[in-house]
Amino acid sequence: MKVTFWGVRGSIPVPGPTTVRIGGNTPCVEVDPGDREILVLDAGTGIRLLGLDIARRSLDRLIAVLLFSHTHWDHIQGLPFFSPARSDRNRMVILGARRVDSHLEQILAGQMIDAYLPFTLEDLHADLLIKEVHDGEKIVVGNHTSVLPRKLTHPGGVFGYRITRKDKSVVYASDVNHPAHGFDSNLVALAQGADLLIHDAQFTPEEKAALPNWGHSSWLEAVLLAKTVGVKQLALFHHDPMHTDDELEEIERQAQVLFPNCFLAREGMEVIL
Ligand SMILES: [Zn+2]
Ligand SMILES: [Zn+2]
Repeated sequence: MKVTFWGVRGSIPVPGPTTVRIGGNTPCVEVDPGDREILVLDAGTGIRLLGLDIARRSLDRLIAVLLFSHTHWDHIQGLPFFSPARSDRNRMVILGARRVDSHLEQILAGQMIDAYLPFTLEDLHADLLIKEVHDGEKIVVGNHTSVLPRKLTHPGGVFGYRITRKDKSVVYASDVNHPAHGFDSNLVALAQGADLLIHDAQFTPEEKAALPNWGHSSWLEAVLLAKTVGVKQLALFHHDPMHTDDELEEIERQAQVLFPNCFLAREGMEVIL
């Protein structure tokens, strides 16, 4: 499996000279299991770059499975600008949770009404299938890839996903708020022994102490969880928009002292599993 980080920043895009090394686009991660389909985790502004890259791959037809962790703005706002979604040759299966108050399709269409954009969800001419999935519902993609969504702690709810192909697995846990003591129990189960854990690391420990219920983790919580559940590699993800490249690279140094197989997710980075 190949994992590519197209957007690694939390909350809001932050282009500029202090974010150029790590990247300023909001969450989007591609997982290519090496079959016909690709999987895409979240559609933050990084998905625009994925669309440009797909155009260079000269595929006859793209088949993509989009997995939404949740529909906070930083995870959906790139979807209208994902160019492969405009082509009727392509097929996109969009999966995510139903909210208590609204359906996934309503929310995605709702950010594309004429108050916000000059085109609508219906102008995305790809063969779109939008489907709500449940906590713990196993999804099969292609012949050898499975996806398991689990509900994690975050305001409004969030899915973490474990993607497994043969003996390799990657776990995506953006936007998760661990309790003051211990860890989110569903994530402990989901992440056991994964080859790669992509984990929310928005805060420093001091910032987390000041905002314990904001919905996010510190890099230290990500490291301690990774060690507890025995993952092989940890990618620190969903970087705070206020954190500069220099500050993030200092966090990376501190994190690697505790867990050497840990790194900052950087825009454009590829990890082969
Ligand atoms: Zn977020
Ligand atoms: Zn969120």
